[in-house]
Amino acid sequence: MPLYPIDIEKRLKALQRQARYEAEGAPYVIYALLDPGEPGLPFTEGPFNGIPFYVGQSCEIERRLRRHFRKSQKLNPDCQMVHRHIARLFALGRLPRLAILETTQTRSQSLMAELRWGQHLMRAGFQLTNTSADIERVISHTELEAWLDFRRSSMLASEAAQEGAMIVHKCNCGHVDRWIDPADYAACWSKRLRVCKIAMRTQQCPGCGEACIWSLEDRELLSAYFTN
Ligand SMILES: [Zn+2]
Repeated sequence: MPLYPIDIEKRLKALQRQARYEAEGAPYVIYALLDPGEPGLPFTEGPFNGIPFYVGQSCEIERRLRRHFRKSQKLNPDCQMVHRHIARLFALGRLPRLAILETTQTRSQSLMAELRWGQHLMRAGFQLTNTSADIERVISHTELEAWLDFRRSSMLASEAAQEGAMIVHKCNCGHVDRWIDPADYAACWSKRLRVCKIAMRTQQCPGCGEACIWSLEDRELLSAYFTN
């Protein structure tokens, strides 16, 4: 039997409370949405109070949960698989549950933890509805690192400044590496300024005029993080 909107709203409020309580004020939260399983049919005992079907990370977990619920109540042709899954639960009279997997202090840690949890749950046999190329299947370390670089490049300048990440431009023809501190940009540019934008603006080598290859400086730290 399908649910009333009031039931859905109540569950949303409960999950938001749970998230607020378990996050303990941490700026970034890594979470899983859980399927409660068939009524009367207990799922195999596991670490979760349900079957994980989605992994995400957010700096605004309560708003993120609201968005998951809203989008699932108004499906459109290009909505994500996670919303279809939630909509299917609603249609069967069931409500999603939530697990707070981890909290972190920086965006990079949060993205890393999301990747790690996504891969961990996939390897444990859970079918996730995530559709990003980094979580939808089990992938190699090299691919993970490449994806992490990609995800981090869209982090906000203010977040990069907070965690001390620097942009390094390397010129193909051997001009000296140039280091750009996102903190220099975070203060005076738009709040939504992303690291990749700064990198693009500063990409041209003053020596030869060619576009440099850029990266974020703490790559080794990241690969070390994945080996444990
Ligand atoms: Zn050059």
